[in-house]
Amino acid sequence: MSRTTFVDILKIPEMTHHKIHMRRVLVSAVLSLCLVSINAIEAQPVVEKRVAIIGSGAGGSSAAYWLSRAFPSSGDIKISSTVFEALDRVGGRSITIPIMDDPANGVAELGASIFVEVNWNMMNATKKFGLELKKLGSVDSRFGLWNGKEFIFQETGNSWWDTAKGLFRYGIAPFRVRNLVLSATDRLAYAYDHSFFPAFTNLKTLTSFLNFGEETSRTARHYLITDSHVKASYIEQIVQSATRVNYGQNIDRIHALGALVSMAANGAKSVKGGNWQIFQKFIEESGAKLRLETRVVGIKKLVDKKTGTTVYEVESEGGEKEMFDAVIVAAPVHNANINFNNVPSSAASALLDNPPAFETIHVTFVAGQRDPSYFGVDNLETLPNMVVTTADTTHFPGGQYPFTTFAEHHFHNDSKESIVKIFSNKEISDSLLDSLFVSRSWTFRHAWQAYPTLIPILDAEYEKMAAKNRIEAAKQSSLSISTLRDIFTNFLREWGVLPQKKVEVKEVTEEVPTKVGPFALKWPPIVLDEEHEGEGDGGVFYVNAFENWISTMETETISSKNIVRLLHKQWCPKCEPFGDGWTEQANEQPSDAVEKKNEL
Ligand SMILES: Cc1cc2nc3c(=O)[nH]c(=O)nc-3n(C[C@H](O)[C@H](O)[C@H](O)COP(=O)(O)OP(=O)(O)OC[C@H]3O[C@@H](n4cnc5c(N)ncnc54)[C@H](O)[C@@H]3O)c2cc1C
Repeated sequence: MSRTTFVDILKIPEMTHHKIHMRRVLVSAVLSLCLVSINAIEAQPVVEKRVAIIGSGAGGSSAAYWLSRAFPSSGDIKISSTVFEALDRVGGRSITIPIMDDPANGVAELGASIFVEVNWNMMNATKKFGLELKKLGSVDSRFGLWNGKEFIFQETGNSWWDTAKGLFRYGIAPFRVRNLVLSATDRLAYAYDHSFFPAFTNLKTLTSFLNFGEETSRTARHYLITDSHVKASYIEQIVQSATRVNYGQNIDRIHALGALVSMAANGAKSVKGGNWQIFQKFIEESGAKLRLETRVVGIKKLVDKKTGTTVYEVESEGGEKEMFDAVIVAAPVHNANINFNNVPSSAASALLDNPPAFETIHVTFVAGQRDPSYFGVDNLETLPNMVVTTADTTHFPGGQYPFTTFAEHHFHNDSKESIVKIFSNKEISDSLLDSLFVSRSWTFRHAWQAYPTLIPILDAEYEKMAAKNRIEAAKQSSLSISTLRDIFTNFLREWGVLPQKKVEVKEVTEEVPTKVGPFALKWPPIVLDEEHEGEGDGGVFYVNAFENWISTMETETISSKNIVRLLHKQWCPKCEPFGDGWTEQANEQPSDAVEKKNEL
């Protein structure tokens, strides 16, 4: 009997070609079956997440874009997003109008006009989408500060002379403010550093992370004049002009962060043809469904009976209802008119019951010949083309300034007419226009609910900290010995001859006064139905909460990116956090580092 040895087993018996082929097919079939089952173990089932975005302005359109970047189609989570827009166009407060109603004359920005180089998202978007940048307006801007009687400060157009005049008048104040602005923009830049800066669930965290407690809890006047000791005339005249131009608000009201951002408008840019094109592109590139002329009237939080998960029913004006896994509200709640049903959280109720106040800004465009005599000036050459009124109303008729800014944007040589844009807090009457212009051929008016009143926020935490500091300071000063009498009385106290001095230490509680002048107490919430404060564990997010911090197109894109980062963390807890949204997402799969961190 022949014995089969181990070596024999290893020998390949002689086979026909066909047999060899069949064997290969079998082996590869078995192998691929194994691979399939290994993959089946490793791969996550593809999950679909439906996101409703309400509003197609800077906030909503960028939210759609960030979602498509955070959850690429190659990943395990498929996003199906729908942008609901009440109007028949994209862009919200970013819109252009044809000059003199004729597109052949070009267009003018009616709302959000400019952004600056440090606005990383806006700049990146224009580059990526191939949009052309331009300077706003075609005339060189010469600034004049008008008090109703005279120009109390005026540029000549000669930069050397204007700088010398500024130095003579304000000394080093411009440099001191410049440093404060640089410090603020440096800190703001950290909001882009996603490797360092975690997604935040409320603005209190953002404020303390970027160390803006002081700038957001004090008025510009208090912070710049009282605390920073910058020359009052510079703050009242130049900084206040900037806050009036940018936010229609005075330094006694606006928080210091608003003032510093207003002073950071150097090198302002806008997109040729209109800034709204960025937002149009965001939506196009995102692949989101866009539903124009579809006003959302209700959001209802429900539990899906089949899966037991939370879902949101979004109802639009026509009565149509759709289910979503998350909702991003990218429109100010005070005029979005949305009924929030079963979206519980005390912060959300406070916001909805008492939404932040917005400034009404009237924009008036005129094509006409300016009348220099209105300003007590002889000729147009000497009339500044960017006139800002003072906050001091002493010399204005009826004690009210007629407008905040009166700015010439273009000059048409043929018609000798200027295109002038006027900002005011009341509608500009025809009779006022008649005195501002010798003649006019076109007038266009629009009133905006423009931006929130940027009042300082006396956040409870901050107040608690400040109160503690005050108590510490009181304790310290009560122990300081400054005179011989103090030494003597302290000596007697030490020896028990005199009773010990009682240090008044007030109990610090969470309770702070409910109204402190123009101060509000809390930032609007970002997660409207958060179950555990600070966890971000809700599904209805509010982009425009950020507007009370600062209201710009750029900051709305930062706010929406933060919300997408929160969603990404919720839906993909083991993934690398969503990055900057511009560079390719490194890896959708959990990284070693993240896994290790979770194991700890
Ligand atoms: C006159 C003016 C000048 C400004 N100047 C500048 C500037 O120079 N630079 C700058 O960066 N910023 C400027 N801003 C501020 C800037 O416009 C805003 O911060 C920013 O555009 C807000 O974008 P958003 O998408 O959050 O809101 P919005 O642009 O207001 O978009 C909200 C959208 O939601 C839609 N909507 C509302 N309710 C519903 C609903 N129920 N259902 C469906 N859709 C709804 C609205 O129609 C709108 O399209 C200016 C604003 C104004 C008004």
